[in-house]
This record gives sequence, structure tokens and C-alpha cells, in this order.
Amino acid sequence: MSGFSPVRTIQRKRDGETLSTDEITAFIEGYTSGTIPDYQMAALNMAVFFRGMDTRETADLTRVIIASGERFDWARGGCPAVVDKHSTGGQGDKVSLILAPVLAACGLRVPSIAGRGLGPTGGTIDKLEAIPGFRTALSIAEIERQCDEIGCAIASQSEEFCPADKKLYALRDVTATVASIPLITASILSKKLAEDLDALVLDVKWGSGAFMRSLEDARELASSMANAAREFGVATRALITDMNQPLGRVVGNANEVRESIEVLEGGGPDDVREVTIALGAELLVATKLAKDREDAAEKLAGVIDSGDAYAKFEQMVNAQGGGLDELPDLAPTTAIEATKAGYVSAIDGERLGYAVIALGGGRRVVEDHVDPTVGLTMRVRLGDRVECGDLLVEMHAGGKGADEARRVVSEAFSIEKEPVEALSLVAYRHE
Ligand code: URA
Repeated sequence: MSGFSPVRTIQRKRDGETLSTDEITAFIEGYTSGTIPDYQMAALNMAVFFRGMDTRETADLTRVIIASGERFDWARGGCPAVVDKHSTGGQGDKVSLILAPVLAACGLRVPSIAGRGLGPTGGTIDKLEAIPGFRTALSIAEIERQCDEIGCAIASQSEEFCPADKKLYALRDVTATVASIPLITASILSKKLAEDLDALVLDVKWGSGAFMRSLEDARELASSMANAAREFGVATRALITDMNQPLGRVVGNANEVRESIEVLEGGGPDDVREVTIALGAELLVATKLAKDREDAAEKLAGVIDSGDAYAKFEQMVNAQGGGLDELPDLAPTTAIEATKAGYVSAIDGERLGYAVIALGGGRRVVEDHVDPTVGLTMRVRLGDRVECGDLLVEMHAGGKGADEARRVVSEAFSIEKEPVEALSLVAYRHE
């Protein structure tokens, strides 16, 4: 771009102006290739943090991040539609493990690129790696082949996939610019849209265990992501779902795989099944495999209850080298009990996430090793009545960090005299 000046672009955003497509492209390309230094990129990120970006600017940023690496390119014409889900994450969120085979059983292709856990939120890849032999490092060609053959694959993000996001995120992490809606939007969407999707559903979590603590912030992120994704012609819907307590009954890795299998076999906790079906329904309607949400929910429940979804899961696990018969046993269990009587009025999900990290089931830094056998089994839900000495949580501890985790889990519970009002599992739908 002739006449491009990084300083001028930073200045324009600092003063609240709207950046052109060419400016955004030149800036990010310059940063990725090394001609624009960290300090100028950090300054622009901070200007965006305070001044924001409109939908067009956010979509431009997303586009240039996608273009920094490899992307999928699906054969279409008569082939099944390509879909995926993204969740902003929270404790016990194992929906990706269940939804991919459920959607494959409905006839869709699901090339899911997923992340590892860092901080209090678990990661799909860590959960799947609890299955001995399961390979998560697949090439784009392998994912494409597996989706064409069995409908779904779940793999980790390779170096070639959106490298600009990796560099930008590392810089945002150390310059206090992660929590910017347009920057989060471009970061998340670039990785999903590089999958070359026909339809995308976003699960934006809100609450004590979520990235977005308030419903209002979650709504803002949901509409930013849905609006930007539509600029790419991808049918996108967003649900805002509850993360004021863990999803399902267990938090960890091997235990979350087991709970996912229970749901795929038609059992398991109702909330996990309900969120899975609500998210899947948006995709079935968007790809015209169902006429409305009710019809979609019936079809999704049908493939779970018939065993077809479980069969797809098994095929996916076997195709990626894993063996479900070899899932490790959980670490020894110890009880954490209520120290007073009353109603469970709050459960701090972030603290529960940190307790799992203390046990070795999550990461403080990227290099940490994850122990798949540790975790938590929740024995109460928000609003439950408990007496002093009642069981709140069974903790699966392998020795490491058990005392710290016990203290953090106990502190995560608030017990009050009065009952609390129940929260909706699906709080809001961005059409
Ligand atoms: N997850 C991402 O991938 N990117 C962000 O910016 C925030 C959460």
C-alpha cells in the first residue's frame, strides 16, 4: 500500500477514526513479516482496546489473520455441508467432544480445530489426549480425508494455521490488551473461518467460570462475532449459555471423556445434553437439514438415542489412533463437605478451575504437563439445600496439590440461608 504509515494508522485509531481495509492489511502483514515492530503493534492494539472497531474493520482484521496461514478448501457440489462450533469455554464444557460426532451422524462434516487449556478453563485437546493413543496433531489433508470418510475430526492447531493470531495473542497477553471485543472476535473467528465453513454456531458463556463475567459483556461479544462472521457469508448464530456452575457433573480430563460417552450413549447430565442439542439445532437449521429448531432437536436426540452418534465417536477415536477401552482410572477420591447448612447460592467456577490446575489437571504455563486422572465430581448444584457435613465435591487427587485444591474448592462455594433463583441454561440467542 503506497503511502502507508504505521504511526499515522496508530494515530488515527487513537483518535477514534475508522481504519481502511488497506491500512489494516498492511499493518498486520507488516507485523507478521517482521517489518512492523512489537511496540507499534502493541500501540495499535491499545488504541483498538479503547476505541474499538466496527464490523467491517473487525472482519478485515479477521481476513488478514486467516490469510497469514493455511486454510481448508472443501469440495462442495453435492457434498455434505461443513460446520463447526466455538465455545468461549468454562469448567466442565465437554460439548465439542459430543457435538462433532452427533453432527457427523446427522450427515454433516465437522473439521474441528480445538485448543488446549490455559488458566482456569479446560481444553478439548487435553480432554481427548486422556484417551491413550489419540492423535491430535493432524495435517489439514488428514482432517479433510477423515471428515470426508467419517464426518468429523478434532485436532489441535498446527503452526501453519493462523500464525498471525499466535504472534498477536502472545503480544496482547503481555500488554493488557486481551480483553478487547474486536481483538477477541478476530482471534477466535480467524481460527474457525479458516476451516472454510458453511455454518458456525458460537457458544458464548457467561458467569463466574467464564471469560465474560456479565450477561451484558457476553451479549456484546456474541453480536460482534456473529456480525463479523456474516461478512464472510457464513451462516452464524450465537447462544449465550450459563457458566455460573460447571456444565455437567465433572471437571477434569479423563472424567470429562467418560461423561461425554455417557451423554453419547443417551444418558449423562441433562444440562450437557440440552446445551449440545441447542447448539446443534442452530447448525441443522442453518444447513437446512431441519425445518426449525424443534425438528432439529428431534433429529439430534434421535441420533444420540439410536447409538449412531456414539458409533461416530468411536470411529473418530479409532481413526485418530485412540482406544476407548484403555481410558485411565481416576485418581483416588477424597470428599469435600459443607461447613454450614443452607442453600448453595454461588459456585465460583474460576476457583474450581484453579483447583484442577493445582491438582495437575490443567496448566499454569504452556509447558505444564497435564494429568488426565485428576479432577472434580460435583455433588451439588446451585440452589440445592445442604446440611453441615453434606458432600459438596469428590476430588480426584493424585497427591500433587491436594491440600491447596481442597482449600480452593471449599472457598468456591457460597451457602446462604435463602434459596436462590434458578438461571436459564440458554440465556439468549443472537439471531
Ligand atoms: N480465545 C482466543 O482464541 N483468542 C482470544 O483473543 C481470546 C480467547
